This record gives sequence, C-alpha cells and structure tokens, in this order.
Amino acid sequence: MALDWKNLGFQYLDTHCHIKYTSKDGQWDAGELVDSPYLNIHIAATALHYGQAAFEGLKAFRGSDGQVRIFRPEKNAERMRTTARRTFMAEVPTELFVSAIKKVVTANEEFIPPYGTGGSLYIRPLLIGSGPKIGVEPSAEYSFIVLVNPVGAYYKGGLNPVNAMVVDGYDRAAPNGVGHVKVAGNYAASLEPASVAKQAGFPINLYLDAKEHRFIDEFGTSNFIALKDNTYVTPVSDSILPSITNMSLMQIAEDFGMKVERRPIEIDELNSFEQIAACGTAVVVTPVHKIVTANKIYEVGDGTVTSQLQQLFDTVTGIQYGEIEDRHNWCELLD
Ligand SMILES: *Cc1c(COP(=O)(O)O)cnc(C)c1O
Repeated sequence: MALDWKNLGFQYLDTHCHIKYTSKDGQWDAGELVDSPYLNIHIAATALHYGQAAFEGLKAFRGSDGQVRIFRPEKNAERMRTTARRTFMAEVPTELFVSAIKKVVTANEEFIPPYGTGGSLYIRPLLIGSGPKIGVEPSAEYSFIVLVNPVGAYYKGGLNPVNAMVVDGYDRAAPNGVGHVKVAGNYAASLEPASVAKQAGFPINLYLDAKEHRFIDEFGTSNFIALKDNTYVTPVSDSILPSITNMSLMQIAEDFGMKVERRPIEIDELNSFEQIAACGTAVVVTPVHKIVTANKIYEVGDGTVTSQLQQLFDTVTGIQYGEIEDRHNWCELLD
C-alpha cells in the first residue's frame, strides 16, 4: 500500500471494505464485508430523524514483533451495549463485536501502518436504527457497521501541551441525561462550543457539571486527569463518558505505586495540581497547561510535561506496540 505512513493525519481515507450486520426481530445476521463506502438507507430510518445512533473508537497496532494488537475491544463492546440500552437499540453481543473487528481488520491488513511510523488503524464501530418509523418509537431494524481508517502519530515531537477553555453558556451533559454514553447526538451538540473555543485560540474545551458549574466533568471528547503528590485524580460524575484510556491509565498508575482517586474535582482546585491532561483513544494523553474561564485563568504547572505523565503515556503506547509486557492481557492479537 503506497500510503505516506509518516504523514498520515486523522482524516477519512477509503480502505478495501467495511463490515455490516443487520438485526431484525432481535436476531443478528451473519454479516458481510462490503466494498462500497456507501450505505443504502431508508429515508425514514430512526438514526436520521431521532438520533438512534451510537459509535465507538479503538485502535489496532502493528507491533515490534510484527503482530497486530487490538487494544481492549471487549471494553468498547461493553460500552456500546450500555449506549444501545440507553438509546433503546438492539445490543451487539461482545463475541460478535470482537469477531466483526477482527474480520474487518484482517481484510484491511495492508492499511495498518508499519511499526515505527507511530501510526495505527483506527476502528470505528457504528450502531444505527436503520428501519423506518415516522412516529417517535424505536426502529425494528438495526445495522452494525465497523469501518477502519489508517491514522498517523498525533505527536511528531514529544507530548505537546495545549491550553483549554471553559466556554460560557454551554453544558455537555445533564444529570440523568446521556453524557455517560457514546450517542451520536452528543457530538452534534459539541460542535458549536468547540468552534467558539477554537476561534478564541483554544484547541480543546472543558465542561463543568451542568447543575452547579462547580465541578469538572470532562473535555469535549476526552476525560480529565490530574496528577499531584504521586496521586492520579480523575472526576467522578454520572455525566462523564467512561474512557477506556482513563481506565487503563488508572491501572498503570496503580502498577507504578501511585495513589488513584476518583472523586468530584472543584474547578478552583485546578491551581493545586502539578499536571493536568486530557485522555482518550485518539491521542492517549494531551497535557493541558492553562484553563481559561469567563472570569479566571488557571495555570497548572510550568507548561512542561512531568516525567510521570510521560511515563504513563510511554507505558500505554509500549503495551499497544508490543514493546512492554501486557501483564493485564489488554491486547487482542489478530491470528
Ligand atoms: C470517546 C470519548 C472519550 C474517550 O474514551 P476512550 O475510550 O478513552 O477513547 C472521552 N470523552 C468523550 C466525551 C468521548 O466521546
């Protein structure tokens, strides 16, 4: 495959195929690999009108030993089932989810960036209500699709700190709402505040809890983590999307003998941290230096990257590329 592996960004590229399954009356079919990137969908599909749509994001890596590792796919399967229940869609069983991923990754193996380029194959599972309904009710038919897309290394040099903004007048997720699930509509709702932040010069935005605007929830598309005194701190809230990267980093922090705290974090606590960062599949961790709100600027650390954050990053990526022992059995090998 003649791709410029070292200069891949995070943008859509056509691959050989995606995989597609259909569920009718609660029964999933055998699925098929489909070459065309277009979907023939009913104009009254519930995904289009009423937002019955959920997605996931994970990656496959070509390792130092030549093997292909898929990072924690059962966790994404579990999370997609939680989203399916909350949006009243057919659930995809874990075995079907993982086997779909393995089939589509195998069929597109030549799109997995070579070891050493820093790239990976981004995997995007999608679940949608594909049957017609004109009234607001759940679809009788669902489509489960997995597409793949080669992506490049996010960091070309080292970890690069950014500044973030709390955009006044926008909340991400209400208590008892849908912030804890990966439902498509959450991301439509995030585009305007993200654009406000970008126009003001901030690549990411931070959300506070919708009820009091006192506690930190998470960044637009990534969780919030903080480090101080050999302690890893991350917010507890019902309206946060449970990040698998965060879950993995917490385990690694514990393995290193750090203390891990999951608790409400007040915005005014920001100044007391040594390091804060955003975390998610796309970049693992993004160090954040300043956080700007409507009436305050919080400056965290001196803008350099602490060795502890670097160590957490190096360990996750080392496990993903097969350079560090996978002692928790997180990687699913492609046979
Ligand atoms: C997907 C997502 C994350 C990151 O989750 P990972 O499993 O680590 O990729 C964090 N926050 C939001 C809002 C997300 O949509």
